[in-house]
Amino acid sequence: MRANCWTGKNSVEVMDVPDPKILNSRDAIVRITSSAICGSDLHLYNGFIPTMKKGDILGHEFMGEVVETGPGVTNLSMGDRVVVPFPIACGTCGACQQGLYSVCENSNPNAPIAEKLMGRSPCGIFGYSHMLGGYPGGQAQYARVPFADIGPIKIEDGIPDEQVLFLSDIFPTGYMGAELCDITPGDVVAVWGAGPVGQFAIASAKLLGAERVIAIDRFDYRLRIAAQRAGATDVINYEQVSTLEALEDITAGRGPDACIDAVGMEAHHDIGPLHAYDRAKQAAGVETDRPHVLREAIMSCRNGGVISVIGVYGGFVDKFPMGAFMNRSLRMRTGQCHVQRYLEPLLARVRAGEIDPSFVITHRMSLEDAPRGYEMFKNKEDDCLKVVLSP
Ligand code: NAD
Ligand code: ZN
Ligand code: ZN
Repeated sequence: MRANCWTGKNSVEVMDVPDPKILNSRDAIVRITSSAICGSDLHLYNGFIPTMKKGDILGHEFMGEVVETGPGVTNLSMGDRVVVPFPIACGTCGACQQGLYSVCENSNPNAPIAEKLMGRSPCGIFGYSHMLGGYPGGQAQYARVPFADIGPIKIEDGIPDEQVLFLSDIFPTGYMGAELCDITPGDVVAVWGAGPVGQFAIASAKLLGAERVIAIDRFDYRLRIAAQRAGATDVINYEQVSTLEALEDITAGRGPDACIDAVGMEAHHDIGPLHAYDRAKQAAGVETDRPHVLREAIMSCRNGGVISVIGVYGGFVDKFPMGAFMNRSLRMRTGQCHVQRYLEPLLARVRAGEIDPSFVITHRMSLEDAPRGYEMFKNKEDDCLKVVLSP
């Protein structure tokens, strides 16, 4: 089969690889019809995750048709259409029983590598390096889906792929980011990052009753989609104004009730040229630091508010303002999304017409074009927000 593989920093290649096979009784093989490129794939593409190997198949947002099942999978049959959640989870361990699927205790065969880096291991993830199981991903024609009896959700009717594909990751992730904020009517929620995940965090904050939702990014086209499609009431372009000052103005000095980090580690790494905002401050002779999402979220949040971190981090983040965090009774909640929890309720919202998740798609390509898709998504070329590949 053909598959999009990681071949090094800033390099992916579509190659011929062996077809996947059933290895365990609870596996299924899925013929993939749609597969997306995620901001999480950029961490791998940017070379930030040390446990990638040349030739690893990428991709964790996919759906398709069941073509084979192991003897332990009795709820799926050949020909069933399924969306596959990105966290691989057994459904029966202590974590899964609590609905904490993304920290499943049984799905990472390489747990010792993760434990060395993080103390304990989270779940295994499709196409997400050897530290998280070394599972081949879904930017391919076929994938092996472990624990297929509890993970994938069946899509029984003709609803188009594009409306359900993002149940695999970014819709539940944005939704969880908003849910972690314990939104009550009248709340003001600020969202750092108007990428695909930020867009769903904004839309979900609105669905959950926030009165004002503020989108923060440096790309006007992403802020425009946030305002026109996701429902943001205010936007801040942090290259043009100071995020902290703008948030003070919008909230009359009180600060947002909740702050969602939908950016993750790229905001803290020195990638690319300094942002215009830093340059302007430098020109004015002010000591600068790159805009640091976690620090901004903590400093701006109202006293007693919530910081919800759904952007992905690896390693360490320095200069965490522990004093502000402790003395102002802030709370921080975070995690890889427990996608399995949200599949049914969010599919119901899609069916009820409360949201059409396809609003984030800007580019549709064949699997063979994946390398161009990665470049466009990374560099925000041609107003790219979300790329969907058709294998
Ligand atoms: P993306 O890279 O398209 O979006 C990130 C956005 O953040 C970009 O628009 C960028 O311009 C903006 N940004 C960068 N620095 C910023 C700053 N200082 N302030 C405000 N905005 C800033 O990626 P995405 O697909 O939207 O994913 C976003 C994050 O969510 C990634 O870290 C990804 O790994 C993570 N993610 C987490 C989960 C989870 O389960 N928790 C699931 C999927 C993705
Ligand atoms: Zn993803
Ligand atoms: Zn489990």
